[in-house]
Amino acid sequence: MNMNSSIMATYKRLPIAFTSGAGAWLCDQAGNRYFDALSGISVCSIGHANPVLAEALCDQASKLIHTSNLYEIPLQEQLARRLCGLSGLDQVFFANSGAEANEAAIKLCRKYAHNKGVHDPVIVVMDGSFHGRTLATLTATGNDKIKAGFGPFVPGFHAVPYNNVAAIRALAGSDMAIVAVMLEPIQGEGGIRIPNPTFLQEVKDLCEEQGWLLVLDEIQTGMCRTGKWFAWQHSSVRPDIMTLAKALGNGIPIGACLANNRVAEAMGAGSHGSTFGGSPFASRASITVIDYMTEHALGERARTLGAKMLQQFTETLAPLAGIREVRGKGLMFGIELTRDCGELVEMALRDRLLLNVTADNVVRLLPPLIISDAEAEHMINQVCSLIRKFLAG
Ligand SMILES: *Cc1c(COP(=O)(O)O)cnc(C)c1O
Repeated sequence: MNMNSSIMATYKRLPIAFTSGAGAWLCDQAGNRYFDALSGISVCSIGHANPVLAEALCDQASKLIHTSNLYEIPLQEQLARRLCGLSGLDQVFFANSGAEANEAAIKLCRKYAHNKGVHDPVIVVMDGSFHGRTLATLTATGNDKIKAGFGPFVPGFHAVPYNNVAAIRALAGSDMAIVAVMLEPIQGEGGIRIPNPTFLQEVKDLCEEQGWLLVLDEIQTGMCRTGKWFAWQHSSVRPDIMTLAKALGNGIPIGACLANNRVAEAMGAGSHGSTFGGSPFASRASITVIDYMTEHALGERARTLGAKMLQQFTETLAPLAGIREVRGKGLMFGIELTRDCGELVEMALRDRLLLNVTADNVVRLLPPLIISDAEAEHMINQVCSLIRKFLAG
């Protein structure tokens, strides 16, 4: 029982609190500096206390924070145009988190199917996936540990193995009314699982052939994290629906569900909503993030720096006994060990380094995209010596 806190014990928190940040660094209550190789889980991509963002937010807060979606919101429209321009998709629904963006995507698939006369629509989802903690997104999530105890789940989902087109194709003749395939271009929580280079294209081809929608959850991989605005842009596979959140607001809560016209037209007035979604304040934050990423070419930076760092991680760590695989794309890295390594998180904390272990045995690194060459070097050295120490222990 959790008797020491008025906060519900949904998180196992580390015994540390931060009071300020600057770029890739966080400062604790005693004034110690930590290198943040996680960015608040792929959120603070343009860094902590980014001065350009801080100024924009101060300005916006002093003008207007919220009006509700009962009125026109020019900043929301401006943000939607920017996101459509970057993705080639046509329309956006704004929410306040990743799970909500995915809920919107799921509802959109269902409404689209409904308008075509489909009853009992099914969305194909992937083992090992993570789509959020609401009931529908938890149902879509392929992780039994975090689902335990929350049934009954939402009907209309069918899970198949990730990175296996044949498993999806095998459903084509079934009596399920499949309307969409929903997946992450790289599985984040699932352990930085990078599919074969042809996987996405093959899924897209299958979807086109079968008349299924392709829904890509870019909540963790989007916004330049992997070296492109969106991870699917490493190929030419444009989805019908894409969801964003995390780095979209650099910490100001905002999520987005984008769709092409064909699909978005299924939604009319009153079909979905959000009190806070796309507020002037959150929209201003996202526009500022996009401007900043554009001006500083952070996609290109993530691509080139990420490739160099991956090479260094691989050279140093891959030969070690106890390392199964080193993988990455842009500034998203997964170092898979042969055994569970949860203790690494606290060991890292003692070294003043913030990282995360996911899927039990994968060290996950998601540093801010603004790190300098020297900071990248610092991070590589710290991570490599930490893992060496762990493997020796
Ligand atoms: C974090 C994440 C979500 C959920 O986002 P929340 O803002 O926590 O609801 C969904 N999908 C992916 C791929 C994520 O990484």
